[in-house]
Amino acid sequence: MTPLKTFAAGLFSLACLVATPAHAALRVLACEPEWGALAIELGGPQVDVSVATSALQDPHQIQAKPSLIAKARNADLVVCTGAELEIGWLPVLLQQAGNAKIQAGQSGNFAAADFVRKLDVPTQVDRAQGDVHAAGNPHIQLDPRNIALVATALTARLQQLDGANAAAYAGRGQDFQQRWQQALARWNAKATPLKGMPVASQHKAFTYLIDWLGLKEVAVLEPKPGVEPSVSHLQQVLASLKAQPARMVLYAAYQDGRPSEWLQKNAAVPAVKVAFTVGGTDAAKDLFGLFDDTLDRLLSAAGSAK
Ligand SMILES: [Zn+2]
Repeated sequence: MTPLKTFAAGLFSLACLVATPAHAALRVLACEPEWGALAIELGGPQVDVSVATSALQDPHQIQAKPSLIAKARNADLVVCTGAELEIGWLPVLLQQAGNAKIQAGQSGNFAAADFVRKLDVPTQVDRAQGDVHAAGNPHIQLDPRNIALVATALTARLQQLDGANAAAYAGRGQDFQQRWQQALARWNAKATPLKGMPVASQHKAFTYLIDWLGLKEVAVLEPKPGVEPSVSHLQQVLASLKAQPARMVLYAAYQDGRPSEWLQKNAAVPAVKVAFTVGGTDAAKDLFGLFDDTLDRLLSAAGSAK
């Protein structure tokens, strides 16, 4: 073989390697986009990830459609929030899927909220108070320190389920944590002007974001969790804000923003749409973009409210 031909043959086999997708070792079904994005970060080519919900769907309320049941049937691992966020649909989905590997308590069932400190844990649970989460507030994903904790636990779980690729998961995990800690330092510095700022929330979906940034939640628009506020309720909130003004009102991309927009009009505070998860806004393309975009939006609203 001439050197040129050898070179060409080499190129050909390289092309074959690149063209043949690596056989994924684990099929992962994520309940929400943030955990799908994290599984891709940590699993790389070893995982084949599908996501049960989009950023524009309310993760409390999802239909266990046949296509979703089929994905659950074939999954090696489900990665969900837990803390009762998916209580209205995940138990049904798991039951319908009939897949022993992913049932609660099995190693193929990963609940992110198990690995973080929960806020808003009620001292007593009264379902009459609306869609109250007995296990504490499940919307843990908007504190990047929680993402780091969940990442550590998820890396360990991937290694447990797919021991043959344990070293690859360790390497990806380390790389992710390093990039995440660098980003976290950048976000902490950037967020300094937000410290102590009073905000209103449409749903109690921002508890962990508020805790991380040291914001102060002075009002919640929903009269009970998951219950749309009426105009008369909004008027009460408006009255309470006279005594304790908010600088902005936050709502999640999946929510109907009208209550927040009502407040924007009547209390002259900016309504801020927060991506809430990966894909909730154009800029929130991955987990890093989610926090970059969230801070950009809060900072810009804080500036305009001066
Ligand atoms: Zn909720």
